[in-house]
Amino acid sequence: MAMPSADSLRAAIRDVVDFPKPGIVFKDITPILADAALFHDAITLLCDAAAGHTIDKVVGIDARGFIFAAAVADRLGAGFVPVRKKGKLPWKTRQVAYSLEYGESVVELHDDAVAPGESVLLVDDLLATGGTAGAALELLDGLGAKVAGVAFLIELAFLGGREKLGAHRIESILIYD
Ligand code: AMP
Repeated sequence: MAMPSADSLRAAIRDVVDFPKPGIVFKDITPILADAALFHDAITLLCDAAAGHTIDKVVGIDARGFIFAAAVADRLGAGFVPVRKKGKLPWKTRQVAYSLEYGESVVELHDDAVAPGESVLLVDDLLATGGTAGAALELLDGLGAKVAGVAFLIELAFLGGREKLGAHRIESILIYD
């Protein structure tokens, strides 16, 4: 089988200018999802972020992160855990607030989603300023999870989000400078 190519993933991503608001160039990953071979390759490359580790839980971030994280979890033989926006999780939760360009957002995790010492891989579609992933890592730290790595399909490196994620192993498949 051919080696997965990051270049064909990059070529498939659609830049949507001024979405969801003026000044944002939105990276639309739906063409990757719709193509069986590209989606398979994306999951393979995301799984590489866990190389050398046994992963108990793959943690995905609301909402596009779920799509990738769930497939990665299945491929790695791990469980899947959602980090959700405020008010969506039914059981007892922990919350972390983080700042956005304008205002604030809150993410939540079920209190019993990860047991202390479990090995987790955090997955999201895109790293921008790092606020969202940073908040997710704070939630995981609070539960005593052992973060084996953090994996993104896309990293907007010019926004410096990586610096907000501490000393974790961070792997991005496609980096935009
Ligand atoms: P941030 O907290 O700034 O790192 O933003 C990351 C989150 O916002 C991710 O869950 C992304 O899905 C979403 N996001 C931020 N910027 C973009 C963008 N330019 N294109 C697509 N998604 C984005």
